[in-house]
Amino acid sequence: MPIQSLNPANGVLLRSFTPLTGEALLQKIGLAEIAFAQYADVPLTHRALCMRKLAQLLEHETDDLAALITTEMGKPVTAARAEIVKCASVCRYYAEHAARILAPEPIDTGSNEAYVRWDPLGVVLAVMPWNFPFWQVFRFLAPALMAGNVGLLKHASNVPQCALAIEELVRRAGFPRGTFQTLLIEASQVEGLLGDERVAAVTVTGSESTGRAIAAQAGWLIKKSVLELGGSDPFIVMPSADLDIAVDAAVRARCINSGQSCIAAKRFLIADSIYEGFEARFVAGMDAMKIGDPTLEDTEIGPLATAAQVDHVHQQVEAAIKAGGRVLTGGERMVGKGNYYEPTVLTGVPRTSEIYREEFFGPVAMLFRVRDIDEAITIANETPFGLGASVWTRSRAEQTRFAAGLQCGGVFINTPVASDPRLPFGGVKHSGYGRELSAAGMREFLNAKTVVIADAVAPKRPEAAPSDVNRAASPDGGQRAPIPFRDFLTDRTKSAK
Ligand code: NAP
Repeated sequence: MPIQSLNPANGVLLRSFTPLTGEALLQKIGLAEIAFAQYADVPLTHRALCMRKLAQLLEHETDDLAALITTEMGKPVTAARAEIVKCASVCRYYAEHAARILAPEPIDTGSNEAYVRWDPLGVVLAVMPWNFPFWQVFRFLAPALMAGNVGLLKHASNVPQCALAIEELVRRAGFPRGTFQTLLIEASQVEGLLGDERVAAVTVTGSESTGRAIAAQAGWLIKKSVLELGGSDPFIVMPSADLDIAVDAAVRARCINSGQSCIAAKRFLIADSIYEGFEARFVAGMDAMKIGDPTLEDTEIGPLATAAQVDHVHQQVEAAIKAGGRVLTGGERMVGKGNYYEPTVLTGVPRTSEIYREEFFGPVAMLFRVRDIDEAITIANETPFGLGASVWTRSRAEQTRFAAGLQCGGVFINTPVASDPRLPFGGVKHSGYGRELSAAGMREFLNAKTVVIADAVAPKRPEAAPSDVNRAASPDGGQRAPIPFRDFLTDRTKSAK
């Protein structure tokens, strides 16, 4: 099937690409392998130079790149510009901090000299989503390339032009050939790609089901994986919060990227004593959001990225109503061309319903009343996800309790959840594992290699370990060809019966 770039604001086909197959794909993997071997000799100072050049290109070409995001996935243009500028900031962050993060760490063992050195793993496959088509990729590529890894990108099939533009920017920034390549392939080709022994590791940003499938295979292959998956972040408002500021932040936190963000606030847990005031103002705020043509400067909500996305969001709203939820505003597709959905507020969705446990990836909010901080923490944690949480309270004691009690990767107090190159980003539970950004993100795809250097005294002759004896005796030298992943699954199914 061709990979198509469609304008979500009007459904017009922009470009179509034939997926890479067979020999062409193998050649790209081969090029990545060669690039990794050669890239090891490129000094960190030179990598930093290229990374700064990359930041400069992004900054100089912000308007054109933002326009590409807007036409290909419908992001309002002011937000698209902000996304490009943020990509430049992550390049500058790692250009400046890589030397510190990658410096060998001496360890005092009391006797021998010992240290940890950080070595790159090799070719890392990045499977990425469309919602922040540049930012998601840059927060992988900046630390990966600075650390000496090389990248292969399988981007979402609805943003092929963004994917190609990123590869071109990296090339123009001066990174050696093959250090970062875009592969225009289908999702079904990822399994074969990850199975290639030249691919060392994988990072996935996407839905829970994609994360599950890729992580299962990576586990079987014993390849390192990082998963950045969905979220159903709580936004909690306690009585001491400034209601005006909290409501304004709540509306923006739900509608960021037209509601299509993993860290958008999705469940609003409001203290009983301020609930009515919050609800009225929040609904008014959602109604006031400017929805329309994403190329206009003042548009706040654009079309959803695909027609399938609108169908899915609408089915979820219908399921919430069927389960007993009530619509306070919105709840319908918008008439006319383009993938538009009304900003929607739901209340009374039963916490026992299936739909309550799902992520709403569109401008749809669910409101809940909470008695006290204990109930707020209970409901906040009552989800399979655990990405972020935004809490609004001026009480120091409450801030401390929320920070400790919420099961998620990041607690943001009196501010919405946001990613920042300096802060670790990631989740727990079904939101995934591993971290991106900061030193923690860079180290995910590094080998923390322990080096111990003892005084040079006459060594005792070591006896051969039993495993070495076995390996030498076996006809294939102890090596076994790996069982293909699908065969492994089939075998397991058979033996389970
Ligand atoms: P998706 O369907 O999982 O797609 C993400 C990527 O995975 C795309 O490149 C897609 O390719 C590929 N893919 C899909 N199925 C696959 C499979 N079986 N094997 C291998 N690759 C596969 O996710 P989405 O709906 O586009 O994105 C939205 C989701 O991403 C939401 O759940 C959101 O919360 C999550 N997200 C998480 C973060 C985070 O940092 N935690 C950030 C952004 C988004 P195709 O496009 O070709 O299908």
